[in-house]
Amino acid sequence: MNESIIILGAGESGVGAALLAKKKGYDCFVSDGGKLKDIHKQELDAAGIEWEEGKHDEDRILKSSLVIKSPGIPEKNELMKKIRAKGIEVISEIEWAYRFAGDSKIIAITGSNGKTTTTSLIYHICHNGGLDCALVGNIGYSFARQVAEEPKPWYVVEVSSFQLDDIRYFKPNVAVLTNITEDHLDRYDYKFENYIASKFRITMNQDKNDYFIYCADDEVTMKYINKFSILSNPLPFSMRKELLQGAFIKDQEMTVNTGEEKFDMSVFDFALRGKHNQYNTMAAGIAASVVGLRKEKIKDAIQTFESLEHRMEKVATVRGVEFINDSKATNVNSTWYALESMDKPTILILGGVDKGNDYSVLDELVKEKVKAIVCMGVDNRKIHEAFQNIVTVIVNTSSAAEAVHSAFQLAEKGDAVLLSPACASFDLFKNYEDRGRQFKEAVKSL
Ligand code: ADP
Repeated sequence: MNESIIILGAGESGVGAALLAKKKGYDCFVSDGGKLKDIHKQELDAAGIEWEEGKHDEDRILKSSLVIKSPGIPEKNELMKKIRAKGIEVISEIEWAYRFAGDSKIIAITGSNGKTTTTSLIYHICHNGGLDCALVGNIGYSFARQVAEEPKPWYVVEVSSFQLDDIRYFKPNVAVLTNITEDHLDRYDYKFENYIASKFRITMNQDKNDYFIYCADDEVTMKYINKFSILSNPLPFSMRKELLQGAFIKDQEMTVNTGEEKFDMSVFDFALRGKHNQYNTMAAGIAASVVGLRKEKIKDAIQTFESLEHRMEKVATVRGVEFINDSKATNVNSTWYALESMDKPTILILGGVDKGNDYSVLDELVKEKVKAIVCMGVDNRKIHEAFQNIVTVIVNTSSAAEAVHSAFQLAEKGDAVLLSPACASFDLFKNYEDRGRQFKEAVKSL
């Protein structure tokens, strides 16, 4: 009899894992303590895969010898504790997909910030350069679903630390670590070291034929890099020093040198704006070079990339006022990078659910660039306190439409309105996507 595999959690990654298991001839059972989306129920039914929702059949689960765990499920979960106590093998969906990826090659991207942007840019360059590749992970399909439904010679995979926690053999040919800042500590026993170690697991199975691309300006990365035995070829990137191997930016000019390929490019030709995106572009330029793409193709693709929805997305210019949607910025760090990239007087829309923000890091940039602040949240007191001595105009609003109208009234021709809230969205919106879409609709109906 075939082995029965348990898939815990039925989001895109869980369903992908189940479809792959079924395709490869395994019995599998999907169990989700919450509710499944209708689309996922239909897919599982159509594939003849058993599932349950709102509960866990513990007897059945604890009899299995392999559990594929969705990244959203914490180790603190009671069922997970029982699974661990029984010594059942637990893996993540990327590990599962990897086991069936055969000879295909993998470019994997992790980091605290910039994963989706860097992954998408790498995919865009590779795709434009003629590589037969798929973009998987956070955008579009899960890795497992792609392997099940349309295997490719190359995969460009966005990987979270939760996915890395449960890998065993996963071995990317090219690994990218964008940066490390404190995040998700509740899942790591409130120990930053644990989270850092989890990020470095992306290199764990790499060998001397592989590549590791990382940010040499990132203090945390550099402090910890020597604590792990990394066998792959190091290819750092920096804006602070010239590097012989990897990439650096000096006097607004990027140089990429991987041994295989060397080229220069002006940062003014980058499609993506802002310093953080210059880092992401360096990482992508190196990755594309080591997989053997020609420099002309790489440069061309770096110029033609279109920014992603909700990330410094240009919405429209209305009577000379430019509107930018950076709804994805849910912390102060992201908003800092957004403001840093602004080259026009800015009306900043801030606010929402604050996860313990220290707004003072924004002081300098706000002084320099922000004409007025439009608060968009249920409780805006902290924002007023933080900026009342720096910005003369701070207004309160409580919907996207109201915020857009206020900002538009405060703006003059040549100004920009930037939605970069530094906060989570769930006081007024379903999520950051909903917030970004409502913002865009309001702009379009001005
Ligand atoms: P992730 O997928 O890691 O959440 P995204 O690419 O979606 O990251 O970008 C999310 C936000 O993080 C962006 O809106 C931007 O403000 C910020 N960001 C992007 N790249 C970087 C970077 N390299 N360093 C710091 N912040 C960044």
